[in-house]
Order: sequence, then structure tokens, then C-alpha cells
Amino acid sequence: MIFEQVFNMINVGLVILDEDLFVCHWNRWMELHSGIQAENIIGSPIFKFFPNLDNPKFLRNCKSVFKFGNFSFFSQKLHHYLFPFKPDSTFGSEFNHMQQSCTMGPLRDESNVISNIYLAVQDVTEIAAYERKLVEKNMQDGLTGVYNRRFLDTKIQEEFSRHKSYHRPFSLIMCDIDLFKNVNDTYGHQCGDVVIKQIATKIESMLRKTDFLARYGGEEFCCLLPEANLEAACNLAERLRQAIEEEEVNFDGQTLKITVSFGVAYMHDGVENAETLLQMADEALYVAKKSGRNRVAAA
Ligand code: GH3
Ligand code: MG
Ligand code: MG
Repeated sequence: MIFEQVFNMINVGLVILDEDLFVCHWNRWMELHSGIQAENIIGSPIFKFFPNLDNPKFLRNCKSVFKFGNFSFFSQKLHHYLFPFKPDSTFGSEFNHMQQSCTMGPLRDESNVISNIYLAVQDVTEIAAYERKLVEKNMQDGLTGVYNRRFLDTKIQEEFSRHKSYHRPFSLIMCDIDLFKNVNDTYGHQCGDVVIKQIATKIESMLRKTDFLARYGGEEFCCLLPEANLEAACNLAERLRQAIEEEEVNFDGQTLKITVSFGVAYMHDGVENAETLLQMADEALYVAKKSGRNRVAAA
């Protein structure tokens, strides 16, 4: 009697199945989140109400619990959920389904024979939502919202490995705002920040979904362009250059004209490592600066 009260009050979903995977017990938590009353599901196979569980992995795990008496864990990271419940409305926009961490284990009768299995379902949507936000923040630049350098460095390594394995082309564009010190000195640091943000937004709006834009330093950005050869990357850099040249930045009632210089590098078999590619883009950028700024140079 007391155990039954605990069974129904606990903030965890509890389900008990028999060897044929028919439902024997279904606690209040499961009723609340599934909208299925215990009296309607008890005596039915679990698959009748949850056909998504009728998959080889779930069946294998159930068999293994009965056969060996071991425990199984269905992590949120790998499975997201076992039961497709709606998430709590607070996190509704983050996930389509309640994120669950589930365990499964054996229950034994008086003769110590495994007679049933239990499933415990924990709602971890809140933790998963925080984790997702943290991961996003960790790869974002605070001022502009584009990727940060740490993320880009990882991404360049990934592309480099992909190139080594599959010979997929990719290019880098280094962008550096021209004479940016003057902006800060003339209009103030706050205005400088507005310029950095607007340039980032402009560049991002002109990239493909598969490209990555990162703030690489103070007023430097780097575009990583998977599948782009040198010609495509230079064409894009030139379009970016023109678009920024035509753009106006408004700050405190004043209108500023900004230009950017670009250095483009292309990953080919002669490039030893990812750092070399960055160096090549940087050197090309230096050439663009030296030859008058507001231009594109290729390595
Ligand atoms: P160049 O054309 O040769 O690139 O000239 P530059 O003046 O842009 O050269 P430099 O790279 O030396 O100057 C960059 C300046 O950017 C220096 C620094 O004060 C400023 N800066 C760096 N980060 C930020 C930031 O987050 N906000 C603002 N407002 N300024 C920044
Ligand atoms: Mg700079
Ligand atoms: Mg600069």
C-alpha cells in the first residue's frame, strides 16, 4: 500500500512489463505525460501504444534483461527519448519531445527468477536545454554572435582531415577591416563595436548555409568555405568587398564608409597542415593591405 503511494507520487515514470512485454504497471507520472490511463494500457502490449519501441535495439535490451538480469541505460544524448511525450511548455521551443534518460532492469519473484522488467523514465529536458545553450555559447563570439576562433580552429582541423581522406576542396577567406584604429580614434570604441557587428552581419548574410563565419580577432573575420575552390572563394571575397564598400554604417547621426581587405587561401595537396593554410590566408591578406587595402589577394 505504501509502496503503491510512492510508485504514484514519484517524479519519475515507472513502467513494469512482463516477459511478453505486456504492461503490468503504469504509474501516475506515465498517465500524466502520456494521457493514457493505467486501466487502459495494463494488459496490453507496450507496442500497441508505443509502436516506436518495436525496434531491434529495444527488443534486444529487453531480452538481455530477462536472460542475463543486467541493466540497460538509454541516454538522452544517444536516444533523446523512449516515450514520445510533449515537453514541458517552458522548453517547448527547444525540443519537439521531452528529453528522457531511461533505465531498464530486472524484477525477480520469490524464487529469485526474473519475472518482469521495469522501465524508469526521467525528464531531463531542462538539463538538455541548458547544455545545448552552453555548447552554443561556447562556440559563439559575444559581440557579433558569429562563431568564435576556438570553434573555427576545430572546424578547420575537421575540414583538413576531410580533405586528407576524401580530397574534398575547401578555402579560407581572412577579412580585416581597413584602418579600423581610425574609426575608434575618431568616433569612439562604441562606434567601433557597431561597425564590427554590422560587417559581421553583412558577411554572414552573403554566405551559404554550409559556410562558417568566425570572428578571428578584434576586427578580423575568417570564412571557412567547404567545397569551394580558389576561384569560387576569390569571387565571393570580391562580392563581399563590393557589398561592404557600398554599405553605410550609421552611428550617432553620422554616416561612416568602411572597407575591408581580404586574403584567400585554397586547400590543396601541397598544404601540410591547417595552420599553414591559415598562414597562407594571412600572408595574402598582408599583400592586399600592402597594395592599397580594400582589395582581394590570393595565396
Ligand atoms: P589595417 O588597415 O592595417 O588593418 O589598419 P587597422 O587600423 O585596422 O589596424 P590594426 O589591426 O592594427 O587595428 C585594429 C584595431 O582594432 C586595434 C584595436 O583597438 C581595435 N579593436 C580590436 N578589437 C576591438 C573591439 O572589439 N571593439 C573595438 N571597438 N575595437 C577593437
Ligand atoms: Mg587587424
Ligand atoms: Mg584592420
